[in-house]
Amino acid sequence: MQQVRRGVCWLLVLLLMTACSQPQPPRHLQIPAMGTLVDVVLYDTPPTQAKQAQVRLGRLLFDFGHDWWAWGDGRLARLNQQLSQTGHAELPDDMADLIGEARQLSRLSGGCFNPTVGPLVRLWGFHSAPRDPHAPPPDAHAIAALLPVPDMQAIQLDRHSINAPRGTWIDLGGYAKGRAVDLAIAELRRLGIRNAIVNAGGDLRAIGSAGSRPWRIGIRNPRGEGAVASLTVKDNESVFTSGDYERTFIYHDQRYHHILDPRTGYPAQSTESVTVVDTRAAWADAAATALFVAGPEQWPQVAAALGVKQVLLIDRQGRFHMTADLARRIRLETAQPPPIIIQALPAAAQPSNLCS
Ligand code: AMP
Ligand code: MG
Repeated sequence: MQQVRRGVCWLLVLLLMTACSQPQPPRHLQIPAMGTLVDVVLYDTPPTQAKQAQVRLGRLLFDFGHDWWAWGDGRLARLNQQLSQTGHAELPDDMADLIGEARQLSRLSGGCFNPTVGPLVRLWGFHSAPRDPHAPPPDAHAIAALLPVPDMQAIQLDRHSINAPRGTWIDLGGYAKGRAVDLAIAELRRLGIRNAIVNAGGDLRAIGSAGSRPWRIGIRNPRGEGAVASLTVKDNESVFTSGDYERTFIYHDQRYHHILDPRTGYPAQSTESVTVVDTRAAWADAAATALFVAGPEQWPQVAAALGVKQVLLIDRQGRFHMTADLARRIRLETAQPPPIIIQALPAAAQPSNLCS
């Protein structure tokens, strides 16, 4: 009898073990924030933890998007109103930290990434989504009147206050999404989640793996359907793309889009898209915007100064330019002329004032 009981116990233990080791199905969360639908996929996450993640990320991303959007009534918008009128504002610690990193990225990029393009972004109408697709581009005189764009380095920051030339309006649209993705990943980690991807409209950061496989993603074709390339994303990597297909309009056969060249006040002309792979999403985001503006001739020196080693740039002729580090691991999905591979980035000297 005792033997039978022991047998039943073992059977129960075995059943329990099997149930526990059953892989959890992936959980999909969708969070509307920052003008897009943020997709989150979680592996090895029980339903209660997934629900917690949905609530916490929902709040975090919504608040972040509201706080850091330059044009609404959030914290950055209020700071901008004060700055543009008086040139001075009080600054809480977390804002100083974020604006400070944006200023550092601007300096390293030689001003190609320059959040003080805010007034130009507004003049072009790219601050309100969707922009009226039939509205003509702004008048050339109105653009010229906003040049030169103030230098981010003219902004003085300490832990508690900020001083900037009057009229300064900081637009962190080229960087804040990356910061938000970094924060979302940190929050998932705090919840004990180890395998996840946070994808904000194609810009993403992954941790761990997709079950028994690595995360695999596609890089969007800037001139058609589907993906031009695919990539296995390693643990803790971010992939960010800046493209001229976003917030775009055609007027008299000319394409206009939302990434502005601070030198001219017009959309940067010679690039279709730039993809940057890096561990830090915020860094990858700002770098993709900077390299887009730097263009097919000058992006390697900006990449070197920013310390990003994995880059794909597609120029206006549809040619692919890549660092050797990315070329080694990317799979091209479409037929095209052989890519131009940059074997070694130049020495990481700062491209002083390249874009100012
Ligand atoms: P992204 O899609 O990350 O390249 O960001 C583009 C957004 O960044 C635009 O919608 C503007 O809000 C802002 N932006 C445009 N041009 C620049 C620039 N040269 N430097 C920094 N931010 C920019
Ligand atoms: Mg960006």
